Amino acid sequence: MQFSKLRLNGFKSFVDPTDLVIADGLTGVVGPNGCGKSNLLEALRWVMGETRAKAMRGGGMEDVIFAGASSRPARNFAEVVLTIDNSDRLAPPGFNDQDTLEIVRRITRDAGSAYKANGKDVRAKDVQMLFADASTGAHSPALVRQGQISELINAKPKNRRRVLEEAAGISGLYQRRHEAELKLKGTETNLARVEDVIEQLA
Ligand code: ATP
Repeated sequence: MQFSKLRLNGFKSFVDPTDLVIADGLTGVVGPNGCGKSNLLEALRWVMGETRAKAMRGGGMEDVIFAGASSRPARNFAEVVLTIDNSDRLAPPGFNDQDTLEIVRRITRDAGSAYKANGKDVRAKDVQMLFADASTGAHSPALVRQGQISELINAKPKNRRRVLEEAAGISGLYQRRHEAELKLKGTETNLARVEDVIEQLA
């Protein structure tokens, strides 16, 4: 799975639809301070399922929507589309079996976020798992934001371990284990209830 294009529409400073082609090899983004370089990286993180507004440098998730400028009114929605080359068929079959996979995240004011994979509605969790299993995603150590290196140097061992686990692609397994444990707990509670009922009837 290789990222081939990122499209932003109404996302932060990218008010008009803007395409960033991610070619083979190294892609560099250069520009003056405040031109939107970090916003591009945040768009990538956001479309992969980021849930923390703080990681988007905002107070609430709707802060990613273009807030308006002296010459342009604010927008009502923001959308980011990530196009992925899936010719190696690494995306799980549930997603699609085509050469290209297109993940769309859209946020509308007062209506929250919605995700689509090749035109079909999917859950945030499905998108997060897709990227976690591919050793990337909103928390990927491959996406290094400003100040993160010094944070890592000063981090507690437990937090540093989390970064290694993300890099090793096992964070998706932890999420699944957590969900399985919750289900197990629910089942145990149900069993205890059934035993109570049986006792009452006996
Ligand atoms: P630097 O080189 O200083 O780190 P940068 O190129 O990474 O800068 P960003 O931090 O990505 O720049 O972009 C900041 C710009 O994005 C600011 O001009 C800010 O006003 C604008 N911006 C952020 N959120 C929004 C929003 N919701 N609506 C409109 N503009 C926004």
